[in-house]
Amino acid sequence: MNESNVDSNNVAPADRRDFFKKMLALAGAGAFFQLFSNSKAFAALKPATSPSCKAPAAALGYVNNLAVALKNHKIAKTAKTVNGKTWTPLEQHCANCMFFGKNQGKNVPTCALMPPSCAVSPHGSCNDWNAKS
Ligand code: SF4
Repeated sequence: MNESNVDSNNVAPADRRDFFKKMLALAGAGAFFQLFSNSKAFAALKPATSPSCKAPAAALGYVNNLAVALKNHKIAKTAKTVNGKTWTPLEQHCANCMFFGKNQGKNVPTCALMPPSCAVSPHGSCNDWNAKS
C-alpha cells in the first residue's frame, strides 16, 4: 500500500469533521452575536417617561397600557375601520400598529413616530395608531 494513499484516505474524513466542527462553531458564534446585539439594542432603549422621550410621547398622546388608559379615560378612542376590518378601541395597541418596531427591527419595541432610542410597550397606544397592513 502506498503511504500517500493511506494518508489521503485517512485525512479526508478528518478534514470533513474539522470542517463541520468549524461550521458549527461559526453558526453558534453567529447566533450568540445576534442574540447579544438584539439584547444590546433593547437595553439601550429608554422608557417613554424618560426626559428625552417624554415630550414626543406626550405629543402623540402615548399611554403605556391601552386597557388601563381606556378604563381611566386617559385616552379617547373610537372604532376604526382599516382595509375592511373594524378595530375596537381595545384592539388599537402598539403591537398592531403600522409604526411599531420600525426603528430597530420588528422585535425591538420602538415606534417610527418617536426617537429611535425610546421604547414603547406592545400594550401601549397613542392618538396616531394605524393598523398594520
Ligand atoms: S404610533 Fe403606533 S406604535 Fe407608535 S406609539 Fe402610537 S400606537 Fe404605538
